[in-house]
Amino acid sequence: MDGAKRPAIIRSVQQWAMLALLFIGFPLVRVILAEQFGVQFPPFFFFFPAITFAALIYGLWGGLGTTAASAVVAAWLMSPAAGKLQYPSPSKALALIIFSLIGGFMCVMGDRFRRTRQRVTDLEHEKIERGNKARLAAALESMTDAVFISDATGNFINFNLAFAKFHRFKRIEDCVRSSAEFRNLIEISTLDGEPLPPSMWLTPRALRGESSTNYELSLRRRDTEDKWIGSFNFGPIRDDEGEIIGAVIVARDVTEQKRIDNMVRASETRYRTVFQTSLDAIAINTLRGAVYIDINQAFLEMSGYERDEVIGRTSLELGLWTAPHDREQLLNLLKQGPCRSYQIRFRRKSGELFWGVMSASVIEIDGTPCIVSATRDVSHVKWAEEEIRNLALFDPLTGLANRRFLIEQVKKSAALSVQTHRKCALLLIDLDNFKILNDTLGHPMGDLLLQAVATRLQSCVREADTLGRLGGDEYLALVEDLGGTAEEAAAHALVRAEKILSTLDKPYLLDGHEWVCTCSIGIAIFGDGHENVSEALQQAELALYQAKAAGRNSLRFFEPALQAAVNARAALEESLRQGINADQFVIFYQGQFEQGRLVGAEALLRWNHPALGMLPPANFIPLAEETRSIIPLGNWILESVCRQIALWSKDRRTAHFKVSVNVSVVQLHQHEFVDDVIKILQRTGANPHSLRLELTESMLVSNVEDAIHKMTILKQHGVGFSLDDFGTGYSSLAYLRRLPVDQLKIDRSFVRDMLTDASSGVIAQTIITLSKAMGLPVIAEGVETTEQMAFLEGMGCHCFQGFLFSRPLPLDEFERMLPEFTLDDALFYGELKA
Ligand code: C2E
Ligand code: CA
Ligand code: CA
Repeated sequence: MDGAKRPAIIRSVQQWAMLALLFIGFPLVRVILAEQFGVQFPPFFFFFPAITFAALIYGLWGGLGTTAASAVVAAWLMSPAAGKLQYPSPSKALALIIFSLIGGFMCVMGDRFRRTRQRVTDLEHEKIERGNKARLAAALESMTDAVFISDATGNFINFNLAFAKFHRFKRIEDCVRSSAEFRNLIEISTLDGEPLPPSMWLTPRALRGESSTNYELSLRRRDTEDKWIGSFNFGPIRDDEGEIIGAVIVARDVTEQKRIDNMVRASETRYRTVFQTSLDAIAINTLRGAVYIDINQAFLEMSGYERDEVIGRTSLELGLWTAPHDREQLLNLLKQGPCRSYQIRFRRKSGELFWGVMSASVIEIDGTPCIVSATRDVSHVKWAEEEIRNLALFDPLTGLANRRFLIEQVKKSAALSVQTHRKCALLLIDLDNFKILNDTLGHPMGDLLLQAVATRLQSCVREADTLGRLGGDEYLALVEDLGGTAEEAAAHALVRAEKILSTLDKPYLLDGHEWVCTCSIGIAIFGDGHENVSEALQQAELALYQAKAAGRNSLRFFEPALQAAVNARAALEESLRQGINADQFVIFYQGQFEQGRLVGAEALLRWNHPALGMLPPANFIPLAEETRSIIPLGNWILESVCRQIALWSKDRRTAHFKVSVNVSVVQLHQHEFVDDVIKILQRTGANPHSLRLELTESMLVSNVEDAIHKMTILKQHGVGFSLDDFGTGYSSLAYLRRLPVDQLKIDRSFVRDMLTDASSGVIAQTIITLSKAMGLPVIAEGVETTEQMAFLEGMGCHCFQGFLFSRPLPLDEFERMLPEFTLDDALFYGELKA
């Protein structure tokens, strides 16, 4: 208990006792000291301690003055200067009593006055304190945070309405008041669910001097299941001396806040996970300036950049856009809202381009408008689309337009030409004897040629023209805008077609093999709006047939009359197949003469067509070659001729004959050719030395090694070779030395022209000289006049074949030509010597 709170009555008794001690005690002490010990003190020796003591007791100068005066009078009265104890006279005693009473009265009055003043000050203090308390209480009540204050023992001495709410009490009256009661009602645990023992609760901790802010705990009232989370500020309350006199705890219910925080965190985690694991490249960059703020892993993989190369830099700096215009367009789209499926071509760090589909929208991050974009690499889809388009419209082998695309183009230009009144041309280009290459060197080589032809054709057309492959060895060039009239257009188309002819007929080098392949071109002019596309194509086709029939390496324009010829050709192909089966082929023999004597014959094929009559080989051999029916046909000829050789060998007039058989290139390059010839020789018993195979130089140009190989084997068996049409071929002179030939045959064209055309004569002379130099016999074919014969003889050629001597004749007619065997003959053939 505080001293200030002692009852007033007790205080008065003490004062009176002290006062008595002062008046009586001090004089008595002086007297005792003087009488017993002889020590003399002057009366005022006690005066000052008395005053001081009284002042200490009362603390009031008023009381002090009276007290001091009383003490002096008492000391004087009781012990005058002698220091001896005197017994006062009654008057003196009375005076002493009166003085004492006055002194005492004044003391009491002084004290009263002092206490009244004290009381007034106390009341004022109390008022202030009450005001403070009220304000504090009001403040506490108005707080949304729960506040509770405990005393030094831990018992609650104050709390607010929010405290009731905090602990889920309906009214403030329901709140518990003692800490023990509280502990029974509430359970406290850490956020991890670890229960806290009461000693670790916040009030005991604060009372131990601990303090903290935003300290989170989980709470639960034992009578409910409902849990909540509080965030606490707590600490001790100290008095002026720093002594802990209580604890204050401020709490806030953060359950909802926590739930929202957790939701936000979970959503943030989800967003992060989606962001980082997405296969699409996600990027956030500022709307203005395009500076990258965040990017995901897929972005780095797609762009090829490292993270720190991207963050803080702009998409333009990185050069991600192939066209800066693309970003502007994206910004324009974003002005209308989020954009989806925007297809753009981007550039990777490596410079490689790729197609991306982008979705983007604008969001605000920390007050800055940003673009969030997700981009998917769709290059493979794009390539696939392109591939499909290419497959649909382009020929995979040559990369040229395919039939479908060509027809589309022709349709378009036909429509356009009606409007512009400008003519167009279709140039249908077909390779001559392409099948031969395929058959002899195989399809891969054929493919190489087709590609090489495509490349050359491209150099012959303008960019505006459309070039394509219709299939096989057939190409089509669509040439537009050729002029207002058909004649004008034809003139232009002719130039184009001639360029193609001259470009294609130069030798090709195919994987080390030199190959010559000419082409034929059919041309149809269109654009008057009457014909449809298939009609125009058909016309070009008809023209092409005519070009082919004209001997290849040539071009023809379409004329309607060609239709019939084309039909006939189709019919021929069919009847050729039947003719072989029906034995409609006949062999004619044309004699070969040396110095007027018959030394041999050339077997020439005829087709005794049931409807068309006797057909010359030119009408069906090319077709037979194309359809490969030349192989069985050729074998049949060889077998027939060999049988004839065997027969003639028994006749003295013909035993020395050398019989020539024409061999087609298709036959020669056929794998079984050598075997077939040998088997036929064996089967028929013909003397191989009597057989002479005629090859043209042009057929030796391609795959000369194979030809040399086969010729050498047959040569070893005794078979001879004649080089037909000599002088018309290409570069066979280089190989001539290596070819095992027995005879050169001057081509008919030189013989025909040599008397009128100097260069033909020179060629004929050169061939003869060459053959002499090589020790090879030479024969001139197509000799029709004695002038020709004389001219040839003059140049040193003495062996002839031609109408001058004999036309090709059926066997019986040919044999009828054989003279009786004469003495001259015997001499000529050296029989007499034998
Ligand atoms: P080729 O091998 O150059 O045959 C010579 C051609 O010249 C023959 O024509 C013959 O009738 C002709 N001829 C001969 N002397 C004269 C003449 O004085 N004046 C004229 N204007 N022509 C003459 P043909 O029989 O029509 O044969 C044409 C071509 O057909 C032959 O040219 C040959 O390349 C080919 N051929 C003929 N028979 C066969 C055969 O059995 N097999 C193969 N693969 N081709 C053959
Ligand atoms: Ca011949
Ligand atoms: Ca010939």
